[in-house]
Amino acid sequence: MRGTPSFSIPKEVVETAEKLEKAGFEAYLVGGCVRDLVLGRKPKDWDLTTSAKPEQIQGLFSETFYENEYGTVGVVNVNVSDETLKVVEVTPYRLESGYSDARRPDSITFSDKLEEDLKRRDFTINALAYSISQGQIIDLHKGQDDLKDKLVRAVGEPGERFLEDGLRVLRAIRIATELGFTVEKETEKAIKKTSKILGKIAKERIRDEFCRILMADRPMDGLVLAQELGILKYVAPELEEGIGIEQNQAHKYSVFEHNLRSLKHAADKGWDLDTRLAALFHDVGKPAARRWSDEKKDWTFHGHDVVGARMAKRILTDLKFPMKQIEKITKLVRWHLFFSDTEVITLSAVRRMVRNVGSENIWDLMNLRACDRIGTGRPKEHPYRFRKYRAMVEEALRDPISVSMLAVKGEDVIRETGLQPGPKIGYILHALLEEVLDDPKRNTKEHLTKRMQTLAKLSDKELQKLGEAGKEKKTALEEVEIGKIRGKYWVK
Ligand code: ATP
Ligand code: MG
Repeated sequence: MRGTPSFSIPKEVVETAEKLEKAGFEAYLVGGCVRDLVLGRKPKDWDLTTSAKPEQIQGLFSETFYENEYGTVGVVNVNVSDETLKVVEVTPYRLESGYSDARRPDSITFSDKLEEDLKRRDFTINALAYSISQGQIIDLHKGQDDLKDKLVRAVGEPGERFLEDGLRVLRAIRIATELGFTVEKETEKAIKKTSKILGKIAKERIRDEFCRILMADRPMDGLVLAQELGILKYVAPELEEGIGIEQNQAHKYSVFEHNLRSLKHAADKGWDLDTRLAALFHDVGKPAARRWSDEKKDWTFHGHDVVGARMAKRILTDLKFPMKQIEKITKLVRWHLFFSDTEVITLSAVRRMVRNVGSENIWDLMNLRACDRIGTGRPKEHPYRFRKYRAMVEEALRDPISVSMLAVKGEDVIRETGLQPGPKIGYILHALLEEVLDDPKRNTKEHLTKRMQTLAKLSDKELQKLGEAGKEKKTALEEVEIGKIRGKYWVK
């Protein structure tokens, strides 16, 4: 025990601890939130540990629920806006005994002693407790020293702790990656030695830690470490196929490094998990698709997009990602090679690509291309051609100015005016369009119906003139709109 730090702790959390103490129990903040407070980071959630048993905790608060089989009681705070405060988790002191399968303790035993609860925690920096009422940190495993030295070190004998719960080898890497810490030497040695224990762990648990590595600021460092320590092959072994796989002239990195560098760019840009996953897996099919070309005197990778999409789907399915997410990422990997030579392609080719990947994913596909470029070592994320392609995408996505914007249709004109179907109907619609373009407020069924009846009385010639004028105006405005889009991307 040392020091009397003063942390800013939300009143809902303070009150929960106070209530427990007033009832004669001990209560401490514990785990990740104390670690984050000491580091000056904002805690993700607030966990309290207490000498009270689950029923005793539940008896003290008006709204609670049982979280899981570990005795954790969620204390619900209504009327708070901060997500992290909606539920404060209160867990009785626990000791864990008998891990026969390296997955879950065989039984959960509650304890009366804080020190026993701290001993069962994974890493020293996660084994700090803080008494709010006394303003005091309880640090029985030198966690504060490790926080200062930026070390992730197992509590107790690392090898034993990893054999108890195999997920801890991956948690070590996740926590080091999130915090920018190093894994302490003995802990690291034990991870290398016991890494295959991860093979016994439920895929969902692995997926959650994997995603947190990807969402860290520097996910590439985390995956490099995971590979070095022999962990990556229990997460996504297919990525390792790219190690040392040389590419062609255009690439200076191996397939493995290129995938990681693409992911790095997605993280540097702060892009979302799906884009990061797509970046990481976009070239996973390359090792399988690689062929030597005597003609080119170089490697080729034909079909790696198709092979890669299939592999990405299998990897993500294996890790129990939700179906919708798998479909999206698979699509991005499948179409990442889209042809972007804007001097050659037409707007309809761009439209086809939008249809392939889905309009809701098209901008992620553009971002994936940026990741791919930077991950190859090209200096520019957005060269002219690529900006031009983006402008074409925007053009393809917008609704063009046309008579279909009107509140009335050709059939309305026929019905209301009694005219026969024919070119006159088109002239009337275009004349109406011109009026609406001048003043959008006129675009109502009522107003346009009145106007079409007046227009129908005009001579064919007059009507044709008005119609042609409307078409010209439409074309001119279209050009202005498209000019605006191109200007936005600095392309002609
Ligand atoms: P964050 O709040 O950023 O998610 P965290 O450290 O709180 O990080 P959690 O998964 O929420 O991570 O776990 C809360 C605490 O429970 C940890 O700080 C640690 O003390 C303990 N803990 C979690 N998982 C394990 C485990 N597999 N083995 C031992 N202790 C664990
Ligand atoms: Mg937590």
